[in-house]
Amino acid sequence: MLHHATRARLLRAVPVLIGWHRRNRRSFIWRGLRRSPYVVLVSEFMLQQTGTKQVEKKLPEFLRLFPSVKRLAAASRAEVLRAWQGLGYNRRALNLHRAAKIVAAHGRFPKELKELQGLPGVGLYTASAALAFAHNADVPVVDVNIERVLSRLWKPMRHTNEKLPMRDIYELDAAILPSGKSSAWHEALMDLGAMICTKNVPKCSVCPVGLYCRSSGKLSMKSQTKQISGEQRYFGEPRRIWRGRILQIISKNESLTKRSLASHLKKHYKIADPKFVPFVISVLLSLTEEGFISQSKKGAIALAHE
Ligand code: SF4
Repeated sequence: MLHHATRARLLRAVPVLIGWHRRNRRSFIWRGLRRSPYVVLVSEFMLQQTGTKQVEKKLPEFLRLFPSVKRLAAASRAEVLRAWQGLGYNRRALNLHRAAKIVAAHGRFPKELKELQGLPGVGLYTASAALAFAHNADVPVVDVNIERVLSRLWKPMRHTNEKLPMRDIYELDAAILPSGKSSAWHEALMDLGAMICTKNVPKCSVCPVGLYCRSSGKLSMKSQTKQISGEQRYFGEPRRIWRGRILQIISKNESLTKRSLASHLKKHYKIADPKFVPFVISVLLSLTEEGFISQSKKGAIALAHE
């Protein structure tokens, strides 16, 4: 529970952090664009699982092809998948396309959290980010940076990997976010987390809100455990990498068959293992079942149009 004195302490940090942010804001392409709900939705979909550098490159291209939600909704699935290539995790492209169709059919963007969360691929974070960044709505927005910064500000964290429960973070953010400045506030928290209050090496000695922070200078790295990726590998790569590679090849080549695709991959990646072709065929089957590609009876494959 948030005590009155704690809230008062953290409320004093709010204008200090916003002032610091005015002078130190990170610049990204999406922050410079007119942040309509559509632009925020597209950029947040991209940022869900792709690094900022790649999103900076792909977002303008994508918005040139599909400048409005109507244009995106009217595009074919193949056009959207083609435009998505290079961003990875292609399921997001299908969800974004479906979400655009729903919004276009309703004739307006949802303005309520629950309604936004009803769109395919839109979770609590993406929905609240859309409201905060497009409408400056007074809703809590919590990504990994914000979760870390607010945890440390609120209570003394002993280790750099320690955080408060998500529910507490939402409660705290709702209690202190400055009304009408939700966009600036959440960007400031994100940027502090990325630049100063970093995951492993927080720079407390130069932190603009160190005076108000319960964890300042107290974080130890002792209990850091190395993250080991548990992702299973197939022929040297996780299955998702092969899915991405296969979709990329199909998006550039209209006249492939299962057999020609498999032999292209075998040659390109120098794979002699006889189990590779059945593996490629199983990936193609799941891509077909999930609606990414279509296959004719004769084995011709292409990006799905609908
Ligand atoms: S004082 Fe240290 S722990 Fe606290 S917010 Fe700043 S960088 Fe993070």
